[in-house]
This record gives sequence, C-alpha cells and structure tokens, in this order.
Amino acid sequence: TTKVVVVGAGQAGFSVCAKLRSIGFKGQITLIGDEDHPPYQRPPLSKAYLTGDMALERLFFRPQSFYADENIELCLSDPVLSIDRFKKQIIRAEKPPLPYDKLVLATGSQPITLPDDMGGDLMGVHYVRTLKDTDTMRADVQPGKTALVIGGGYIGLEAAAVATKAGMKVVLVEAADRILQRVASPETARYFRSLHKAKGVDIREGVRLKALKGQKGRVTSAIMADGSEITTDCAIVGIGIRPNHDLAKAAGLKLDNGICVDAQCRTSDPDIFAVGDCASFQHGTARLRLESVGNAIDQGEIAARIIAGEKVSYQANPWFWSDQYDTKLQIMGLSTGYDCIVTRDSGEGVISFWYFAKDRLLAVDAINDPRAFMVAKRLIESEKSPDPALVSDPSLDLKQVLR
Ligand code: FAD
Repeated sequence: TTKVVVVGAGQAGFSVCAKLRSIGFKGQITLIGDEDHPPYQRPPLSKAYLTGDMALERLFFRPQSFYADENIELCLSDPVLSIDRFKKQIIRAEKPPLPYDKLVLATGSQPITLPDDMGGDLMGVHYVRTLKDTDTMRADVQPGKTALVIGGGYIGLEAAAVATKAGMKVVLVEAADRILQRVASPETARYFRSLHKAKGVDIREGVRLKALKGQKGRVTSAIMADGSEITTDCAIVGIGIRPNHDLAKAAGLKLDNGICVDAQCRTSDPDIFAVGDCASFQHGTARLRLESVGNAIDQGEIAARIIAGEKVSYQANPWFWSDQYDTKLQIMGLSTGYDCIVTRDSGEGVISFWYFAKDRLLAVDAINDPRAFMVAKRLIESEKSPDPALVSDPSLDLKQVLR
C-alpha cells in the first residue's frame, strides 16, 4: 500500500489527511507534528480564544478519536529533523527513520522575532502563533495594565482589540507609514484606524522600534527610533512571519519565498508536496505565498486528490477575515494592482470597498457586510465584474449585480 507521510499537524496537514480519507484513500497515513496538541485552528488565538470566549476543545478540528477511527497515525511532540530523498524516508529525533512513497510538507510559518539585542529575550514579550503562546500571553492580559503592540498588521490589531476589551491601556506602534500597509488599502486601514482610536488605542504610525528595555529581565519600556520612550507592562509582537522551509532547503528542494510548488502542489521533487503557509505558487506573473486558512485547506485538498490519483489543479481563490471588537472584516480576492476603488457605504459601520483594475473586479473588503462578501465571492469566482456605479448605490439590492 501507498505510504503517505505528512509533516506538520496544522491546518494544511489536517486538510491533506481528512481529504485523503474522505475520498476513499486506503493507504497508510502518518501525520507528524512538533506541537503537543492535535491539529487546531489558529485564528481564535488572537480572537475569541484569547478573550476567553471560546473553550479549548472548540479549537481542535476533530477530537483525538477521529485519527484512530480514520486510521491516521497521529504523532505529536515529534519534530522531523530531515528528509532523505534518496532513501525516501524522514528522520526524527527518537524514532527510527520512516519511509514514504509520498511526502507532504505542511510545516507552516513562524513569527519574525525581535533579536535579543533589541530586548527580544525579555519576559513579557509575546508572539501569537501557537496555543502555548496564547496561554502564556493570557497571564499578562490584565485590566489596568499597559500593552505595547508592535506591528499594525491583522495579528497586532486583533491583539490590540482583545487587550483593549480586557481593560488594558494599549499603545500600537507601526514602522510603516500606516497600519495594514502590506495587506490592505488605505481606505480599509483608515476604517480600522478610526475604530481603534475610538476604542482608546494610541496608534502611532511611521515610528520604528529601536529596542525594548527591561528591569530584572522583564520588559518595562520601548525606545523608539525618534527618541520617544513608551512605558509598558508587556509587549505583543506581530511583525510578520516567515515560512518554515528549513527541511525543504536542507533536502535541496527549490525555494522562492517559501517552498516552490506547481499547480498540483508538487515541489521540485515529484514525490514531495508542500501546502499551506510554507508553499509558494505561480499566480499570473508573480509567485505568491498566502497566509490564510482558506489557502491551507484548498492546497491540502489538492495535494490529497493528486496523491489519490485525481487530475486536478489548484486555483487560488484568496479570502480572509479578521475580527476586531464587534467588527468583522471579510476579504475576497487580492486587491494588488487596482486602479479604482468604489465605496459602498450603507451606514452604521456597514461598508465595503470594491477594487477594480480596468473595470475588472479584483477584490472586495466587506466590513460588517456578509452580503457584500457573498456577492463578491460569487462574482470573483465566476470572473464577473459588476458596473461600479451600481455597486456604489447602497439602495440597490446587491443581488441584482449577480444577474
Ligand atoms: P500551521 O497551522 O502553522 O501548521 C504547521 C505545523 O507544522 C505547526 O504545528 C508547526 O509546529 C509544525 N511543524 C513545523 N515544522 C515541523 C517539523 N520539522 N516537524 C514537525 N512539525 C513541524 N487565517 C485566516 O484565513 N483568517 C484569520 O482570521 C486568521 N487569523 C490568524 C490568527 C493567528 C493568531 C494566527 C497565528 C494565524 C491566523 N491565520 C488566519 C492564518 C492561518 O491560521 C494560517 O494561514 C494557517 O494556520 C496555515 O496552516 P499551515 O498548516 O500551513 O500552518
């Protein structure tokens, strides 16, 4: 029987295994992860799980029994050290080499960290990637205390919202000219900037952190490049992630902003696949690496179907969401390269931004507007573009643009 080994028991690794079984794959499946929990969802780590509104059990995709029932061998706390492509086996610390016929790398990504000489090693400095990170951070989320959030991307903004709701005083610093620089338009950034300011967050853009300072090994303040000093009780760092490609690199697989894969999620070795945050693929004229749940699920499912012998290709269908306070942002598509933005403002915080390039709809940011998201999803998936003038009229029933 075919032996499939999946390295990385996160969103994408889970997706591969669940899909293989659901389409009737009868071979062996081994899912190996270095964390000590069965596969779980990460988005709540900076949202409902961090606020305490979501119980631990609800983080897991499936109860532990699922893996035994589906005959998926789940190995936890079990880091894979290397790949021997010539013998087609993987090497682990305390177990004998494990042979594979097909290997899937679903190793995800890791936060970019502050170096020790910038105070990165001080206590009270937190990252938000794993369940362990969030459980550790929770002890520092205390009413009346101050949190310094470093980085105005989605992770930083969500952490700022949670800390504010918990009664903390929050200062958020962003080195770029504006928050969400890398991932959203100025319009969407403006919306979230005013939301956070209205909730009392002190947002400072265009200021670079020089170093964190501490006393008795614990962070107490941040020195900024402009000379200002911000006192704080803890720091939450969200300055981006980098793909976990070390295994692939050591094995000589082709890399380019992550592990290079083709439309079948195959790496430069036809028996090795890569899926999720660690994989980069061709998208139009560019190479793209998506850091999102939707992409991890979709690529995982494509790899599973290819391994099971189907003939399918991956079609990137980017979507994303972010929850901050009671505001829900849903994004469909990629707005990169837009030449026109149409705003649809239905009042009371229900607003969407529609991005066009030469009248072609590229993406929609829907804020508190699930209907706009739904319509955008259907339009973009079927490569249809509505008349911008119709979209901008909030009195028009959006469903009409689908006709
Ligand atoms: P991961 O889920 O990171 O899984 C990879 C796993 O592989 C990890 O457990 C890692 O420890 C393990 N691993 C790595 N190397 C080895 C090795 N050598 N041996 C064994 N195991 C190894 N996306 C959205 O779409 N919407 C959101 O709102 C959203 N919010 C997020 C909030 C937070 C706090 C975070 C951290 C992420 C969020 N994301 C969100 C992103 C989304 O969670 C990721 O894109 C998704 O988890 C990627 O799945 P993955 O399987 O590629 O990586």
